[in-house]
Amino acid sequence: MRICVFCGSSPGHDSQYVNAARALGNLLADRGIGLVYGGASVGVMGALADAVLEKDGEVIGVMPEGLVGFEVAHKSLGDLRIVASMHERKALMADLSDAFIALPGGIGTLEETFEMLTWAQLGFQSKPVALLDIGGYFTKLNDFMDHMVTEGFLRSEHRGMLLCESNIETLLDRMRDYEPPALEKWMDRDQT
Ligand code: AMP
Repeated sequence: MRICVFCGSSPGHDSQYVNAARALGNLLADRGIGLVYGGASVGVMGALADAVLEKDGEVIGVMPEGLVGFEVAHKSLGDLRIVASMHERKALMADLSDAFIALPGGIGTLEETFEMLTWAQLGFQSKPVALLDIGGYFTKLNDFMDHMVTEGFLRSEHRGMLLCESNIETLLDRMRDYEPPALEKWMDRDQT
């Protein structure tokens, strides 16, 4: 089993973000779960990969050619896949993984997470998508998701597809038990 983790290429101002990435990385390695991620050595991403590697876990980095030149590619990855574009990267990350977790990050993290959620909403993928909420970082994002439901832009069944937990073990358990909703977005669109 492999989990794809989307997370910041920056470390954030509070050390709790990097510490949580390290804890997640260690736990993945302990459980024999492989990591798929963006392949960088910097920020939350680098801390996560280092934590898996220090426990001899499996790490696959997936990076578009254009980013390799910026010398942020992790030098210790045994498996760094170079792809032509950001689109190819996301598709390969999704193919290689059984589930997706977002740790705190910026717009890159959100873009990747929400693309997986969009595919799930449309029935193109059925793997769980989850936020690991460190220090309430995702509180406002969750509030906004609820606002989308209230305002009629997101079905509550699809809202429920985005799992969120602050405890890593609880999150992994919920992802293991996840059942995607049977409903498809366009089937009964008028009832939203
Ligand atoms: P951000 O949250 O904006 O820092 O973007 C992080 C996400 O975008 C990661 O999950 C990566 O897949 C991708 N990304 C952004 N910057 C980089 C970078 N310098 N090297 C590799 N991937 C990156």
